[in-house]
Amino acid sequence: MTDALIIFKPDGAHRLPVRAALWRWLGSQREWRLHGLTWYRPPTELIERHYDFLRGRPFFPWLVEFMTALPVLVGRISASPTALERMRYELGETRIGEARPGSLRERYGIGGGVNILHLSDSPDSGQAEVELWSRYLPLDGIDAQLETSSDRPDWTYRLRSLAGQYQAGVHTELAAREMRQLLREETELPEEDFESLVRVILGAFR
Ligand code: GDP
Repeated sequence: MTDALIIFKPDGAHRLPVRAALWRWLGSQREWRLHGLTWYRPPTELIERHYDFLRGRPFFPWLVEFMTALPVLVGRISASPTALERMRYELGETRIGEARPGSLRERYGIGGGVNILHLSDSPDSGQAEVELWSRYLPLDGIDAQLETSSDRPDWTYRLRSLAGQYQAGVHTELAAREMRQLLREETELPEEDFESLVRVILGAFR
């Protein structure tokens, strides 16, 4: 068995229909065991270390801002190496435009790197990531109370289409305003946190 780190990224943690879908999937524990899941707002230095191999990429500053803007759900699973590989397959490719149809990221990701969930991509990275994050928080308790369904609408595909317009500079202001409204309907965050979520999601498409 191998350990792996799982993170509901800000979009996966706070878009309620997405969080419910991720929890249905993760909580099924089909071929894996969940050992910890807790709310945590990662400090910048932790995210910079976690994504150290991406330092220097153009999207790195955005990625750090995205991952530190809000509390996220952080957890640890154990699985066989083959099961971890299958989980990654079910998750889908990194960039939403390339994510396999039917995968979680294709179904719920808005675009680019706004891709709902982190899951260690191998036993080696799992071990290293669990070791790193364990220095900051315990990964042994499931103290997050999550729901397996949500009465909020799921606007993924409209958000994806609007993000495409926003990125292309087409009706930019209208697209941003509409995205904000749709995100408002999907979430129940206090004002300041909601503004942070909108900022980091729009920031991915600048
Ligand atoms: P993962 O293991 O599938 O999450 O992919 P990586 O470890 O390669 O990348 C880490 C994270 O960086 C991704 O999940 C994305 O959020 C972000 N990312 C990676 N590549 C890109 C990219 O080309 N553009 C943008 N905007 N974000 C990216």
